[in-house]
Amino acid sequence: MLKQFNIGMLCLFLRKTTHMRLLLSILFIASLFSCAPDKVTADLLIKNGAIYTVNSEFDMADAVVVKDGKILEIGRKPELELKYSFSEVYDAEGQTVLPGLIDGHAHLFNLGVTMQQVDLFGTESFEEVIDRVVAFQKEKNVSFIRGRGWDQNDWKVKEFPNNKILDSLFPDTPVALTRVDGHAMIANKMALKLAKITTKTKIKGGVVALDKTDKANPKLTGLLIDSPMDLVFATYPKESESYLRRVLQDAEKKCLSLGLTTINDAGLNKNVIDVIEKMHQEDSLKIRVYAMVSNSKENLDYYLKAGIIKTDRLHVRSVKVYADGALGSRGATLRSSYSDKENHFGAMITPQKELKAVAKRIAAAGYQMNTHAIGDSANVAVIRAYQEAIDDTKDMRWKIEHAQVVTMEDFDAFSKNIIPSIQPTHATSDMYWAEDRIGSERIKGAYAYKTLLDKAGMIVLGTDFPVERVNPMHTFYAAVARKDLKNYPEEGYRTEEALSREETLKGMTIWAAYSNFEENEKGSIEAGKFADFTILDRDIMKVHADSIPKAKVMATYINGERVYSGN
Ligand SMILES: [Zn+2]
Repeated sequence: MLKQFNIGMLCLFLRKTTHMRLLLSILFIASLFSCAPDKVTADLLIKNGAIYTVNSEFDMADAVVVKDGKILEIGRKPELELKYSFSEVYDAEGQTVLPGLIDGHAHLFNLGVTMQQVDLFGTESFEEVIDRVVAFQKEKNVSFIRGRGWDQNDWKVKEFPNNKILDSLFPDTPVALTRVDGHAMIANKMALKLAKITTKTKIKGGVVALDKTDKANPKLTGLLIDSPMDLVFATYPKESESYLRRVLQDAEKKCLSLGLTTINDAGLNKNVIDVIEKMHQEDSLKIRVYAMVSNSKENLDYYLKAGIIKTDRLHVRSVKVYADGALGSRGATLRSSYSDKENHFGAMITPQKELKAVAKRIAAAGYQMNTHAIGDSANVAVIRAYQEAIDDTKDMRWKIEHAQVVTMEDFDAFSKNIIPSIQPTHATSDMYWAEDRIGSERIKGAYAYKTLLDKAGMIVLGTDFPVERVNPMHTFYAAVARKDLKNYPEEGYRTEEALSREETLKGMTIWAAYSNFEENEKGSIEAGKFADFTILDRDIMKVHADSIPKAKVMATYINGERVYSGN
């Protein structure tokens, strides 16, 4: 009765006051919204994704919530939408979301350096060379134009060029373009002038080419062969800070567009590391860098004393050492002679004794040692140096970079303290000639990624760009299919050493993070970790393997910020 009365009274009242009616409807609508008990504010929701969390269960999810650069919660879209309000929503619409990819071994800085030069590889005429130089300078406007990669044997007119066109196009800017093999250069007038090269310049071990059509008055053509090129190199501008910044930013842009969020740079000097740190602080460089310090006296004296340097985006706690050279140029050190060159064993860059000494010094400083070892002799030398320096009761996580040719009995040395860090595209780049170098027996222990994984319990994957191309999907494809970009060989190259897709993804995320002592902050999509994501247009865990290299990055996130958009 009372209730009816009250409603009746209210209705009567409402009929009288339209203003009050308006007020009540506003209150009613507002109450609908607040029905959802106070929502927690968050920054970003990624929803409708095929999210590979890469947690210990390798669980899938379809939505992830981010706040303050970190992952707040993972789960299903409806419950997360009820619980949180967001300032940004990324609807993945079925795209594949991976933990931000880590390149376990690459050269970020060197990539940027090559991007400051005109790429002349594959030019089909000198006119094309000129076109590329003009386009490059229009974009970059550098003070000294450098280029690399032309080969007159690829041109219709198979003759060395002269500098006439370059002089007319760039009268005030020096231009120096080196040949594909690095043994010849075409330099314009300005570059020759800076290098003080005249028609009278004569240097042992090289040629300054002259045009002698007018015998009484010979002219420089701009072509230099071998040693006179050094005079030009000596005039290249010094690495100013603004140059280093441009180098790093260009390299970063390329990496972000391919979904990379952390780069292990295998060998940096202090001046570059300092600029990286500065740019991180200013937020002008977003990509995270695991900087391996180059093994030089100055670097070691500084860093081993300074100790571990760690910010959210920069981590310095390791030294990169070279044990030997490369297999292609027969610089890798082998236990017995090269199969295609008698009595040739390669040469150690850092001999065994020095390896042992530097290993002890690095261990004493609490740093990690990461050593380039290609040949079987170099690998065992590194293993012995590590075994002497490593205290196995400690968590040291030292790495062997490449671990390319390993003698069968040496595989047992790999462990969580001697971790293999490998580059799957090296197998598919080298497969055409590797067996010529080492023969059919030793090849069984070469590019043996699955064996290394089984022994160590984990494996770190990288590309080694700019030696190889930057795209991590090429790495993924080479690891699982053991084929190159021509999908060759059809059945894959020694597929008994292929990795599964799950192992490959772990090698590019959680295991790489572990090897950097960063497994608690990155490498998987779990609450509390950095909100770094790589979002792809296809599910590389499921699609036909030959479609993996074509995967496109739709978005790259670092610290919850979208740092690249694919469309
Ligand atoms: Zn490298």
